[in-house]
Amino acid sequence: MLVATVRNYVTSADVKEYVYCPAIVWIRHVLNVEEPQDFNMAFGRSKSYRLDVLERVGVRKPWSFEVFLRNPSKGIAGVVDVVGGSGRFEVVELKAFRRRSFSHFKSQLMFHAYLVSTTMGPVTRAYLVLDDRVRAYVVNETATRDVERIIEGVRRVRESERPPRASRSWKCRLCWYRRYCPSA
Ligand code: SF4
Repeated sequence: MLVATVRNYVTSADVKEYVYCPAIVWIRHVLNVEEPQDFNMAFGRSKSYRLDVLERVGVRKPWSFEVFLRNPSKGIAGVVDVVGGSGRFEVVELKAFRRRSFSHFKSQLMFHAYLVSTTMGPVTRAYLVLDDRVRAYVVNETATRDVERIIEGVRRVRESERPPRASRSWKCRLCWYRRYCPSA
């Protein structure tokens, strides 16, 4: 099982939650609380209906879906929605809905690009698909440094007995973890 196998790894879920709000990472790992999956989350993970977007964007083929990767030396792991190409790769993150705020999804995507580049080979481009909207990002040294900084941030939060500083914002209203939130 993925959770048991990679318990000590920094995962793409950690990265996404850390960028959304670092307190969620702390609640999940230190308080050991996990949001149950609901219908919208399951629907959001259904990828097959966005193949038209991959064709339109021109993501390199062949395509591989739901690619589980881990890098033991870096202690990172995740499931990449789509890896395109061979030799030089492109990475895609598929989300079923448009979002008002998506920086956490961009960070998850760039984490996946980093994961692919350190396990399979160089990644040239990364695509974030939000319903039918597509954002393309170049994968370069700056992006790599940003991902490494986030990974270190996740580790610090996970290893701390004290919760991280988290600012209350409009996100709190939507946050399933607010009942456990140290900032509430
Ligand atoms: S309620 Fe707000 S501060 Fe607390 S974990 Fe959720 S988003 Fe973060």
